[in-house]
Amino acid sequence: MMVKVLKPKGEVKKVEAKKDAKARPAGKAPVKKAEQFDQREESLRTLSQFYMGEMDLKMRMKQMTISTGKEPPEWMAALEILKDNIIKTEHPDLKLKMYQGIVDLLAKVGQKEDLFTIQQIIARYNLKSFKDLGFEKVEIECAEDACPACREMAGKRFRIEEAMETMPIPCRDCTTEVDAVKGYCRCRYFAVF
Ligand SMILES: [Zn+2]
Ligand SMILES: [Zn+2]
Repeated sequence: MMVKVLKPKGEVKKVEAKKDAKARPAGKAPVKKAEQFDQREESLRTLSQFYMGEMDLKMRMKQMTISTGKEPPEWMAALEILKDNIIKTEHPDLKLKMYQGIVDLLAKVGQKEDLFTIQQIIARYNLKSFKDLGFEKVEIECAEDACPACREMAGKRFRIEEAMETMPIPCRDCTTEVDAVKGYCRCRYFAVF
């Protein structure tokens, strides 16, 4: 039997450590003018999942513009807002949902490097939660429309310590693409009784 349990504990430090990584350009093609409208829409759509909107985005962009001297793209401001809220919120499920929001947004704006980093944070976060709850093993479940590399991982079981060491997911060979960014692995761990 498998059960989906999410119970995080103070995982705040890891998030903070990633702050600088985010600001660095991923060496990918720069965002074209024509895509800027979509980015803005996408950022607002992401924020709206957490009951935030245009004003929050506007204020954050203003703050970032003042502190860095130039206006950041909307998605970058949206990510900063989410990161702050992940640190603030006490609700484990909400934290995880925000992480997922970050992953989705990063995939859409084409930040592959950061995408992988956040996916790893989510995976570690899940493993640690299961460990804290006393579980010993996890099983990998992949998305229904997962790529062959991900599908190969489906159903595989690991001892939690082993998974923490080898980090089998996010799948490095994932070929699922979102707007030309490969590696949109959505494999997840589930605790095994
Ligand atoms: Zn995968
Ligand atoms: Zn995949």
